[in-house]
Amino acid sequence: MAKKGELSKTARASLAQRDDKDHITGRICARCGEPINLKELFPVKVLGQGMNYYHKNHYTLG
Ligand SMILES: [Zn+2]
Repeated sequence: MAKKGELSKTARASLAQRDDKDHITGRICARCGEPINLKELFPVKVLGQGMNYYHKNHYTLG
């Protein structure tokens, strides 16, 4: 049962990272030029250019 406890600690740490609302991906929005938080990241594959990144609600404006 001790091993089970260790596993849940690891899982909890992993969940805590995913829940960080201020996490910045380092991607810049192709529409507004602002950094994009992980929860707002919307990657779009563009032929000949590779990946573009938008805020989710900015991509739908276009
Ligand atoms: Zn944007």
